[in-house]
Amino acid sequence: MASILSEDRFHNEEAAYTWVEERLWPNGPVCFHCKGGERVGKMAGKTTRIGLYKCYACRKPFTVKMGTVFEASHVAMRMWLQAICAAARRGSAPANFSGPSVSASRPLGSWRTASVRR
Ligand SMILES: [Zn+2]
Repeated sequence: MASILSEDRFHNEEAAYTWVEERLWPNGPVCFHCKGGERVGKMAGKTTRIGLYKCYACRKPFTVKMGTVFEASHVAMRMWLQAICAAARRGSAPANFSGPSVSASRPLGSWRTASVRR
């Protein structure tokens, strides 16, 4: 039986970031520092952290994790998604988490680390 947990985003860290980015940044990456989104470039390279962007307006780097519950944690993003998915199935996560309405207006930062148990 195919499980939702077999999906890429739960095992591939880069896919996990992409999944979260698509939900928090429906209109493209937004700089955490200056909220600009027009002059943003994705950092690439073997030594670059996954999901790292650079804002050329304020010259600061940022990731989708900044300002969210993910940032304070050293748990891999894919592990978070597994936990959130499990919580959603138990009905303890916001029903609209996986829906298109999740955006910057409802930041993941409102999530409390303690509410996600493994
Ligand atoms: Zn900026």
